[in-house]
Amino acid sequence: VIYADHSASTPPHPEVIRTLTEVTQRIYANPSSIHEWGGQADQLVQRARAVIAEALRVKHSEVLFTSGATESNNLAVFGVVRAMQSQGKPVHVIVSKIEHASVYACYEQLEREGVEVTYLPVNASGLVEPEQLKLALKPHTALVSIMHVNNETGSIQPLKELGALIKAESRALFHVDGVQGLGKLPVELASWKVDLYSLSGHKIRAPKGVGLLIHRGQFPLKPLMYGGSQEKGLRPGTMNVPSIVALAKGVRLATEGQEAAYGQLRQLHDQLVDYLQTQPQLIINSPLEEAFGAPHIINISFVGMKPEVVVHAMEKRGVILSTQSACSSKLDKPSRVLTAMTKDNARAASGLRISLAPDMTLEQVELIAKALAETVNELKGLIR
Ligand code: PMP
Repeated sequence: VIYADHSASTPPHPEVIRTLTEVTQRIYANPSSIHEWGGQADQLVQRARAVIAEALRVKHSEVLFTSGATESNNLAVFGVVRAMQSQGKPVHVIVSKIEHASVYACYEQLEREGVEVTYLPVNASGLVEPEQLKLALKPHTALVSIMHVNNETGSIQPLKELGALIKAESRALFHVDGVQGLGKLPVELASWKVDLYSLSGHKIRAPKGVGLLIHRGQFPLKPLMYGGSQEKGLRPGTMNVPSIVALAKGVRLATEGQEAAYGQLRQLHDQLVDYLQTQPQLIINSPLEEAFGAPHIINISFVGMKPEVVVHAMEKRGVILSTQSACSSKLDKPSRVLTAMTKDNARAASGLRISLAPDMTLEQVELIAKALAETVNELKGLIR
């Protein structure tokens, strides 16, 4: 079987599994306890924080551990907006139309609550255009959420340009969902002028159910939950020590391996694109320019065909890929991301995502292409 759904989740790295197992077995005291064993657990958490701070070039105190990127994104968005609201200020917020559901749904909820929300369009490559952002920014804009790499298409946002614009034109905070970028592309939080940055363990070969939010600077956040004083009271609850230590290992491995991973992924990507371009039935939705499209995600449409049918036909041939993002794939609606990008319902309703890992081989890519060609041949008679 060839697994080509790495944007949905990745196999944990052997070193991550070793760390997770060892810490689970040996360091089980509560890191908030005042006895020595508690102190040892706390030291491991602080070391993990330091490793992550070094990898992302932020301060130790700016790393908050969470249960994953969904929580990090919710904490970023509601945390900022609730804090502003508690000061009695009018709040305007901006979100791109191609955010992951864990960001986008927060803004939809804010809108239902009466907050003024601007939804930013994207161009045909899935990119937010600086001009559009400039038009959307207002004096009372509190927060802008624009992701690094889109999870369905791999579109890479011009974060440096967008961050500079936000800071030049407003006092808004800049939130970036970085889940799909780390380990594949360079991450430059300072030069992007990012205030809030989310990551998830399981997209970088670390465990599921652990993630982080980088909270750069001094601005206030309201917590989502109330309880103990862990993570400065922003994230109460006993800390998941084994997963946090394993996450730090994942972040370090991803950052150290980023350049090599990029080269390997680019080679696999380009080879796969060459094969796909020989199939007239398939439209490539992902941007192919190196500056605009990440090397690990290729989104294609087999127009007229239900993507679930293709996914199952591919599975029979031993290839695992996906329809839209795993979080939305059971909704049976055209992809919101592809709709915003292509403005073409038929294309948006037939999107398929192939997501690669750097340790895949050219032979595997060839097998994926071959299985797709066979699947297209098998199914094209069904299109009316
Ligand atoms: N953001 C993006 C871009 C994602 O791809 C995902 C995972 N599908 C998430 C956020 C949510 O991450 P988690 O699974 O850790 O909640």
